[in-house]
Amino acid sequence: MRYRETQARKRMSDRFWSKVENSSGASCWQWLGYVNDQGYGCFDIRWNGKRRTGHAPRIAWELRRGPIPEAMHVLHHCDNPGCCNVSHLFIGDNAINIADKVAKGRQVKGERNGNHKLTWDDIDWIHVYANQLGWPNSLLAECHGVDPSVISNVLCGRRWHYPRSNDDRPQW
Ligand SMILES: [Zn+2]
Repeated sequence: MRYRETQARKRMSDRFWSKVENSSGASCWQWLGYVNDQGYGCFDIRWNGKRRTGHAPRIAWELRRGPIPEAMHVLHHCDNPGCCNVSHLFIGDNAINIADKVAKGRQVKGERNGNHKLTWDDIDWIHVYANQLGWPNSLLAECHGVDPSVISNVLCGRRWHYPRSNDDRPQW
């Protein structure tokens, strides 16, 4: 990773952790920024003036533990969706995610929508984050509300030929 990208990632990391309340030892590290209607922290990621929203517990995991394997979810041992303490988080596949939600009496909603429309703006952003910052497909998919397979298709140019030509229009 080049110096400039390393610096960009460090700035993002600093900004991220400044929104987490983690002075309280072993307990939950509460997200202090915006939370969605399910209580999950939302973190704006900016690159070249573009802005996307990421899932705070996933970003916490990425920053502290490393890439989340494709199609895996970051789940809470503590059942506090606003918590970003990585020692309270664990990785699980979709079946574990659903079982965990059922066990905790939470509704399964807000699942990824494979038909979500991507714009060329999104495509640019995906290429930058994947190729220059090394973000995994799972996290990119999370930020865009699509399935990781959609991100794979974007990156290998199956759906979108990149770089784009002028007469191309985004389609999905
Ligand atoms: Zn917690």
